[in-house]
Amino acid sequence: MKNIILLGAPGAGKGTQAALIHEEFDIPHISTGDILRRNIKEGTPLGVKAKSFIDAGELVPDEVVIGLVEQRLQEEDCKNGYILDGFPRTIPQAESLDKVARIDIALNIDVPFDVIMERMSGRRMCACGETYHVSTLGGATTCKKCGGELYIREDDKPETVANRLKVYEAQTQPLIDYYRKQGKLKDVNAVGAIDEIFENVKKALQ
Ligand code: AMP
Repeated sequence: MKNIILLGAPGAGKGTQAALIHEEFDIPHISTGDILRRNIKEGTPLGVKAKSFIDAGELVPDEVVIGLVEQRLQEEDCKNGYILDGFPRTIPQAESLDKVARIDIALNIDVPFDVIMERMSGRRMCACGETYHVSTLGGATTCKKCGGELYIREDDKPETVANRLKVYEAQTQPLIDYYRKQGKLKDVNAVGAIDEIFENVKKALQ
């Protein structure tokens, strides 16, 4: 299997598609956002360092996340491919990654900004990592997978969302050209139902 990167604005649905790729192809789903949130919850030194950046909708410093990902990619389960979700997010992160990994494909999960706002305002999370949208929950307030209580991410508040989108435009969007120049970019139309979008993802991965 391939070494895959998922690019796309916050709220584009990278995490949802990464989870589906993980299930279909049995390769690890590595989400830097999930790793950082887990560290915050556990109160580790990394979590303490990351919290103020995340709460403000800013990026955690490159050297922090780069070290984290480099370590994770050395684990045994990454030998047969992996999906990076939310990393790289800056050009220096992409350049560091190119030094330690061979990326095969960068999927650009492409969604217009107005759809993003709608998705993020309805997003609900579970501590186990599952993500839902209120429109598909039918009023349920617990996770379908583990039964945990669902909650709204602190950084999904409207004022933080606006800042995250600004940060995305300034720092992450340039990666689209970075990977296009390397001939690795595939655009995925990501408006519509989750399973339809996953069909587009699978086509792009072929
Ligand atoms: P995410 O769950 O991918 O939306 O990430 C949530 C937050 O974690 C982001 O808004 C950043 O503050 C931080 N974060 C996640 N991945 C990275 C990264 N690759 N570089 C810097 N900060 C990150």
